[in-house]
Amino acid sequence: MTIHAAPPETLLATLAQRLGAGHVLTTEGDMAGYLAESRGLYKGSALAVVRPRDTEEVAFVVRECAAAGAAVVPQGGNTGLVGGGVPFGGVVLSLARLDRVREVDAVNATLTVEAGCTLKAVQDAAEAADCLFPLSLASEGSCRIGGNLATNAGGTAVLRYGNARELVLGLEVVLADGRVWNGLKGLRKDNTGYDLKNLFVGSEGTLGIITAAVVKLFPRPRAKATAFAGFASPADALRLFERLRAVAGDTLTAFEYMPRFALEVVLKHAPGAVRPLAGDHNSYALIELTSPREDADLQGVFETVLGEAIESGLVEDATIGASEGQNKALWYLREMLSEVQGREGGSIKHDVSVPVSRVAEFIEVATAACEVAMPGVRVCPFGHFGDGNIHFNLSQPVGMDKAAFLAEWERFNRIVHDIVQAMNGSISAEHGIGLLKRDELPHYKDPVAVDLMRTLKAALDPQNILNPGKVVAMGSELPIAMPHVSVR
Ligand code: ZN
Repeated sequence: MTIHAAPPETLLATLAQRLGAGHVLTTEGDMAGYLAESRGLYKGSALAVVRPRDTEEVAFVVRECAAAGAAVVPQGGNTGLVGGGVPFGGVVLSLARLDRVREVDAVNATLTVEAGCTLKAVQDAAEAADCLFPLSLASEGSCRIGGNLATNAGGTAVLRYGNARELVLGLEVVLADGRVWNGLKGLRKDNTGYDLKNLFVGSEGTLGIITAAVVKLFPRPRAKATAFAGFASPADALRLFERLRAVAGDTLTAFEYMPRFALEVVLKHAPGAVRPLAGDHNSYALIELTSPREDADLQGVFETVLGEAIESGLVEDATIGASEGQNKALWYLREMLSEVQGREGGSIKHDVSVPVSRVAEFIEVATAACEVAMPGVRVCPFGHFGDGNIHFNLSQPVGMDKAAFLAEWERFNRIVHDIVQAMNGSISAEHGIGLLKRDELPHYKDPVAVDLMRTLKAALDPQNILNPGKVVAMGSELPIAMPHVSVR
């Protein structure tokens, strides 16, 4: 997959001379954290991990690698879930040292941050300016904003604020030939031709390396209410979502779905998890309302809407958090799910989206199809219901051999993704394509779109040195086998 036109020792010596030997890591121990990804799906190899400290050094590394014909795999916090940051030869370029907040403009409601700032650091910088940066993910303490933008990350506040793509106004990008595009403008209106920044957002490091960004800030929420509701079916959850959206408008910040199996797994394995409702229900939703008005009566909105819904039978039971502690306890049930699902054995995962109008139907149809395909499989569809984005996970049947179950990954891909396709959905809602879905993409994406993606890749990176083999195959890459390794 990788080419080395110049001897690697020469390249590494040149890089060490500019960056300092301490920032060109070559031993197995030093590189270990950069060569594998968080779920243990893939393990790669690299000549070195380099840690430039600013944009000029990033450009230098890219220029030298281009001259040597060596691949450059950019990495932020290496928290991705589709193998997009795993190197197969070449150099890993860590952006961790580009971690400055360059500018805070509270009146323009923007922050200018470097790619290596952790998401938490960006959130904190916003808060210090009495504002909110709303992107929020499980890995926010270690993922980095450059990676969030390069992968167009989603998370739990997309319903109100949009994906990473919608939170960025400008970018600074190092191109495959080492030139730097300075697009750091914090403008709400800039109608000067092609929208270049949106080429790089979501490109997973295959078209350029994001080194800095201007991101949007929002008023800080000063009132918050959280509720947990139980339903007889996902269809009832969708009807409540519709009603809440109509009544609560912009204050509806999150509407997260869990099936009964998911809640049981969390209550069984997450330390300190408290059963939120007395009885058992087919489906659950965690719902959050927020407002910048301190005196907003969000509890009142919940009491009215949920009260009516219980009376009409739409909701079977519900609870509203009475304190910040209780709100946190309800969120804990949702947040712990990904972590504890692995305790039930092998898990086959999908990150899909359908139009919100079909999300309940999708859950029901795909669950039934998987249960027919493998009796005993425990289907765990959960996540961002209000965005039409479901993490459609399958836990292995009790007692089945884990490896034998994971060997069925491709068969289940076909079942789930065919249903997604029939509903005009997407096989990747928020995790990206990386390696995991690269060879799945041509099955489902419009062939004209895939062709345009290849055209753009060839135009912006003619040598195919930027994160080669990810997102779209350009022809010279090896086929990627589906991982049959244990996943958390
Ligand atoms: Zn998610």
